[in-house]
Amino acid sequence: MFFSLDGLDGTGKSTQCRLLVDWLNATGYPATGCIDPGGTELGAKIRSLLLDNRQQMHVRTEALLFMASRAELVETVIRPALEAGRIVISDRYLLANVVYQGHAGDLDPDALWSIGSFSTHGMNPDHIFLLDLPSDQAHQRLVRPHDRMEAKGSTFRERVRQGFLREASRRPDQITIVDASAEIDVVFANLQQLIRPFLER
Ligand code: C5P
Repeated sequence: MFFSLDGLDGTGKSTQCRLLVDWLNATGYPATGCIDPGGTELGAKIRSLLLDNRQQMHVRTEALLFMASRAELVETVIRPALEAGRIVISDRYLLANVVYQGHAGDLDPDALWSIGSFSTHGMNPDHIFLLDLPSDQAHQRLVRPHDRMEAKGSTFRERVRQGFLREASRRPDQITIVDASAEIDVVFANLQQLIRPFLER
């Protein structure tokens, strides 16, 4: 079983991914967590290029670097873990590419879905949880110094949020919106409740 969490920076997805992996492991469902971009030795190098404030790049280059990082992640981490019967929780996945470089970055979202399908060799999450928060609130929660992506400004962030919501409304069977405005343990309880039925299948 493969799940991904996505949403704007500041919505708490990395925290929730960690909580979910720990909970699953503690309740007898061996689980592996990973981050996208990153999660492999090569992916970590690609991630640092992508986040480097001094590195200029065209949005198409950016999209393909995210795809390359994910291709490596799928083949070296996600697919082997799933084949070993583990549950995989990914902190972001292809949806982020479709939204950040597509809806917000002006590339064609459908082209990104199809390049993504090639890059992942058809590996799609069983379900995606979209942590949603108004873009200004999400940004206010960030405490770390801003990376190249986060420096893009409030108009960009709002386009990202709207892009996520649009994809969720286009794909209600694959994407569930989770209100990320509540306390960490409330959001976690909601996610547990949403994931349980998948475990019982
Ligand atoms: O979620 P994470 O911290 O791993 O994302 C790293 C950065 O890359 C964030 O600033 C995020 O907004 C950005 N990003 C992006 N396009 C993607 C995925 C992430 O701009 N496809």
